[in-house]
Amino acid sequence: MRYQFKFRPYRRRFLRSLTTNHGKWEIREGVILRLTDETLRVGWGEIAPISWFGSETLEQALDFCHQLPGEITDEMIFSIPDELPACQFGFESACDMGSRGDNCITPNSSLFYSALLPAGEAALNQWQTLWQQGYRTFKWKIGVYAIAHELKIFESLIHTLPASTKLRLDANGGLSYEEANLWLWTCDNFKANAELPIEIEFIEQPLPVEQFQGMLELSTSYETAIALDESVATLGQLAACHQQGWRGIFVIKPGIVGSPSRLRKFCHQHQIDTVFSSVFETAIARQAALQLAAELSQNNRAIGFGIDHFFEQEQTWLQSLWKDL
Ligand code: MG
Repeated sequence: MRYQFKFRPYRRRFLRSLTTNHGKWEIREGVILRLTDETLRVGWGEIAPISWFGSETLEQALDFCHQLPGEITDEMIFSIPDELPACQFGFESACDMGSRGDNCITPNSSLFYSALLPAGEAALNQWQTLWQQGYRTFKWKIGVYAIAHELKIFESLIHTLPASTKLRLDANGGLSYEEANLWLWTCDNFKANAELPIEIEFIEQPLPVEQFQGMLELSTSYETAIALDESVATLGQLAACHQQGWRGIFVIKPGIVGSPSRLRKFCHQHQIDTVFSSVFETAIARQAALQLAAELSQNNRAIGFGIDHFFEQEQTWLQSLWKDL
């Protein structure tokens, strides 16, 4: 199959900046792709890299788009190098979408969403609004402030959240081995005392990527589950961690993990426990990512796409971007 190829870079400001252990994030930048096949069917795709998370940079993605001719083929799309995982996702999902012909955006209501709480004390004032919107799984960033301070907020948080809430703690690799032990021990303790009406679902990426062995050890020492995120940013990393014995949870960010067809193959082959998560993409990449999540999610885990409150109404914004593409 041959496609006419066009692309356009975009910049979007978050309604409020996003604070993680990696620092502040104010503007989301990416590239929107349009592929038109010989029958004039149109497929949209999006490249939404996060280089500090392990994907290519926006510049590398743009360079790749610039050097492509105006007409491209399936062969070219399926041979995008592994160093450009966000490009693999963007191009493959654009030709998938074109071939399925479903251009409308239909989030799958059977998937439950997890909502992101702000780091620190702000979480205590934010969850109510999200709860009213229907969210029952929350993620809270830890490793942002001093651990003693965060443990205090954590204690208030778990005693204020309504029964049956699920809470995920995401350290973004920001804890030391001792701090990770303290968090896991604290979570185990709350669970053992059974006084806790809420469920602490897992701690996400407690240690930096280089400390895989440490996380493997922690995962066998505590009841509280651990999910790898930064460690499994791309399909190559995911396969390597699985091969080195990781049997905990894998967070998959379809937008940067790489080729969707190879991801499908890996998940089907190994039946891994996955949580699908957003890279703060627009509705275009989100649709493709949700499609994958619906196909490949197991164990009824909420997916991390509860991020609508971070951007303004996007329909109008996307339409204005597409208008002259
Ligand atoms: Mg994470």
